[in-house]
Amino acid sequence: MSDTIIQRRGLMLVLSSPSGAGKSSISRELLASEDDLTLSVSATTRQRRPGETDGKDYHFTDLTSFQIGINQGEFLEYAKVFDNYYGTPRALVEEKLAAGKDVLFDIDWQGTQQLAEIMPEDLVKIFILPPSVSELEKRLLSRAQDTAEVVAGRMAKAADEMSHYPEYDYIIVNYDLPKSVAQVQAILHAERLKRNRQIGLSEFVKQLRDTKY
Ligand code: 5GP
Repeated sequence: MSDTIIQRRGLMLVLSSPSGAGKSSISRELLASEDDLTLSVSATTRQRRPGETDGKDYHFTDLTSFQIGINQGEFLEYAKVFDNYYGTPRALVEEKLAAGKDVLFDIDWQGTQQLAEIMPEDLVKIFILPPSVSELEKRLLSRAQDTAEVVAGRMAKAADEMSHYPEYDYIIVNYDLPKSVAQVQAILHAERLKRNRQIGLSEFVKQLRDTKY
């Protein structure tokens, strides 16, 4: 009997958190360890930070181009976060899911809500919490990429962002990076086995049942 009858539809793995909770580090480690996982690179109107690469961290764009993208339906979702626009390009997501590959999203709660409305079956939502407020502030300051004013703004916003944790399927408190990465991997591996993501199961089971012994 062939074991290739069962195919898989890709899933959409969303990681949300307040800025500085360690989400980017978790994403980086996850992408390095998971072959079938691709990062959805968002478009944004915010300024590029030192060390960021256009096309890798974000597709950096201006407001006019972003608005044209909205009008042409290029974004699966978009939201205004910290006075800038952020959006998920549609094309890559559709292509990967159809090919049975998973896509990782580093988006906020507003984007997650929009994806949950249009693609609930494909979505797996994880919220990352910092271990404490002092740790959150320490991580934001240590990035040394943002001005003190920006850091203060992000701290003020964190409480609001964290109030959205009940909208997520899984909650991880990021005490320790390797442990958090392992927890996200465990979720990803289990979610891949969900019955509704495995295409061709009924045919496979039919063959099992029909096989004479
Ligand atoms: P940052 O400017 O620190 O890279 O990101 C700020 C916030 O915007 C983060 O919470 C991040 O998850 C969110 N974000 C990044 N890309 C997108 C996107 O495409 N859509 C939405 N809704 N949020 C995004």
